[in-house]
Amino acid sequence: MLKPIARITPLEDPDGFRAALRGWFQKNARDYPWRRTSDPYAVLVSEVMLQQTQIATVLGRGFYTRFLERFPDVATLAAAADDPLLKAWEGLGYYRRARMLRESARAVIGRHGGEFPRDHAALLALPGIGRYTAGALFSFAFDLPAPLVDGNVARVLTRLFDRAEPIDSTAMLKWLWNTAEQLLDHQHPRAFNSALMELGQTHCRPGVPDCLSCPVATFCKTREPAMLPVKAKRQTIEEIDEHAIFIQQRGKVLLCQQGKGGRREGMWRLPLRDKDAAAIMPLLHRRKYGITRYRVSLHVHECPPRHAMAQPHAGESWVALDSLDEIVIPPADRAALTAVLGGAEEIA
Ligand code: SF4
Repeated sequence: MLKPIARITPLEDPDGFRAALRGWFQKNARDYPWRRTSDPYAVLVSEVMLQQTQIATVLGRGFYTRFLERFPDVATLAAAADDPLLKAWEGLGYYRRARMLRESARAVIGRHGGEFPRDHAALLALPGIGRYTAGALFSFAFDLPAPLVDGNVARVLTRLFDRAEPIDSTAMLKWLWNTAEQLLDHQHPRAFNSALMELGQTHCRPGVPDCLSCPVATFCKTREPAMLPVKAKRQTIEEIDEHAIFIQQRGKVLLCQQGKGGRREGMWRLPLRDKDAAAIMPLLHRRKYGITRYRVSLHVHECPPRHAMAQPHAGESWVALDSLDEIVIPPADRAALTAVLGGAEEIA
């Protein structure tokens, strides 16, 4: 059955649209810890964590609470050394976010005396803070009007207005931000932005939405919501192989600390070797993991301590087995190490 089409768009009755959305949100808002605070630092931490990590992971595994316990304010984070910072971020991935968060904290200390500026342009000028994050800080922390467009809002708006142009085109991005700005509820910016995002997480979810109980269905112009939004650019996934060696001797294991500039800067990985050389060693473990646009098969080979390949390369050191919990190891390498040390079978 085709979905009914609304007679008017939200821009033709913005007050009615805002009231419908706000009324629904007041009764149904989810209780997230970052909604219980107006501390811009705590809001920023939540926004950066949620950029590439699901809410369920951030909350369910306690990352948000633990991070704020370890770094409770902007000054503590600004003074954080690499190791404890990355350790607190371990498991969230995309570690550059943690360093950028610290850069933002340092700029708040250095430029604004430790207080987040209540000025949109000054927020935007902080390192790592783009238009979305500045809008989130402005509206969620200060309850001041600033538009927000994330994936959820973009999906809701394209469906409400039945826009089938590629959502990642320059023209559509401009339209999305303009529309979000025009619809913004200047009396209740925090509630409005939260509600629009939450509508995209709940009723107006990806795939087939729940239009029957949608609070703003009477403003929605699309007939085929599941077809929207349209995306132009499709990222191609590239399959690659990695060959690592596992060498254990005298209670230590050889690991490699990742150098400056890479995604895993400062983290410890199993040492990688040339495929042809490593492949002659017995295979202990194999697992797949995804990173950005790569699907990686990590092969871990057993290497005798006296073999030529066991000679440490630049960045490689012997690390005591009982200190592995204290250093930051990417999830795939940690899982491989755990499996190999526990004698687990190869994983396909
Ligand atoms: S849930 Fe359905 S009715 Fe509501 S905005 Fe999305 S597509 Fe429109």
